[in-house]
Amino acid sequence: MFDRLFDRLEAALAKPAAQQPIWGDPEQARDAVALLSRAEPIVTPAETARLRSRLAAVARGEAFLLQGGDCAETFAANTEAHVRANLWTLVDMAAVLARRTGLPVVKVARMAGQYAKPRSQAVDALGLPVYRGDMVNSIEPTLAARTPDPYRMLRAHADAARAMALVRSFGNGNGNGNGNGEGDGDNDLYVSHEALLLDYEQSLLRVDTSGPEPRLASGLGHFLWIGERTRQLDGAHIAFAELLSNPIGLKIGPGTSPETAAAYVRRLDPHREPGRLTLVSRMGHGQVRDVLPPIVEKVTASGHQVIWQCDPMHGNTYTSANGYKTRNLRHITDEIAGFFEVHRRLGTHPGGIHIEVTGDDVTECLGGAAGTTEADLPARYHTACDPRLNAEQSMELAFSVPEMAAADITDFEAALR
Ligand code: PEP
Ligand code: MN
Repeated sequence: MFDRLFDRLEAALAKPAAQQPIWGDPEQARDAVALLSRAEPIVTPAETARLRSRLAAVARGEAFLLQGGDCAETFAANTEAHVRANLWTLVDMAAVLARRTGLPVVKVARMAGQYAKPRSQAVDALGLPVYRGDMVNSIEPTLAARTPDPYRMLRAHADAARAMALVRSFGNGNGNGNGNGEGDGDNDLYVSHEALLLDYEQSLLRVDTSGPEPRLASGLGHFLWIGERTRQLDGAHIAFAELLSNPIGLKIGPGTSPETAAAYVRRLDPHREPGRLTLVSRMGHGQVRDVLPPIVEKVTASGHQVIWQCDPMHGNTYTSANGYKTRNLRHITDEIAGFFEVHRRLGTHPGGIHIEVTGDDVTECLGGAAGTTEADLPARYHTACDPRLNAEQSMELAFSVPEMAAADITDFEAALR
């Protein structure tokens, strides 16, 4: 029976896979994958099982899911200071959300594995192979540095293990959710990343017979998601996610039809487990109010209890006049407002948000109380990929989310003006 599971894994991995690097030496790639499969798991089955039950509560409307962290983790920034700053930001946001919505908040970091990035172009402005995340190549703009190196997957695993150790010590030692009413009532911190690089993701899979059918538990993270660029229904990533027992996220952009959304739900939640699947809408603030409702209606009619989560970042990215990839806090806030409006109208639970955020004092996104402008962007623009909210902007967002959840504002842009 378990052989069949691994046959299905082989068949999944043989399907067309978007966004994979071309390793220079296939022999080295095989060697790196073999070494990786003998490494230690990053997370334990018990932790993942606990997250599964907490996400079931989110799907039932009894909790809120806060997911966030760097767009791309890097080896250089995998320091105790940076990891702790990012975790503090999540925990602080969660405390505000919990206090003001009255709901427990499930905290999931984009951390301990977020080292591979999908890219829109294969070549950068200099004509070099594009940076695909520290798991694949180096951001340094030379041909040698940009050449994919499969042994970087081993470094990514080691760095993920180190980050996870910091997550565990943070959860235990910071009075986070310390029972005196200051926290959000839950010490648990979970980790997630995009399941993008299949040579990495196929390692550290264990048979898991605890669910409705035998599946494969990834030891690389508690929660894995499939990105907007790799969600082809006939592709390897969806077929791979189907086999996992971990809770799964799926990014859906404005090109997603209600029928396609229903097909994803049938594929990825065949046993109708509440919270098994999180649909992460990233429509852009201008489209969310039009594109999301028919998707929510179609999926709701199917009877599956998914988590509806809003990623207000990836549909609102643009290039500033001075050449920086950026986002405006006003657009981010407006997409969340639109998301809440849609769910209020349809009677469904707006289950959570998924954001790119850091506790470091960066200048990557525009707006907020400090009034960050385009001219301010060069000062501390440190991201290896997409622009993140800084600690101050993230707290501003945390305070506005419960207001949007409660208020009947139909045009948040107008209300802000
Ligand atoms: C991301 O989350 O960093 C990302 C690339 O998102 P998406 O797949 O939604 O574009
Ligand atoms: Mn991103």
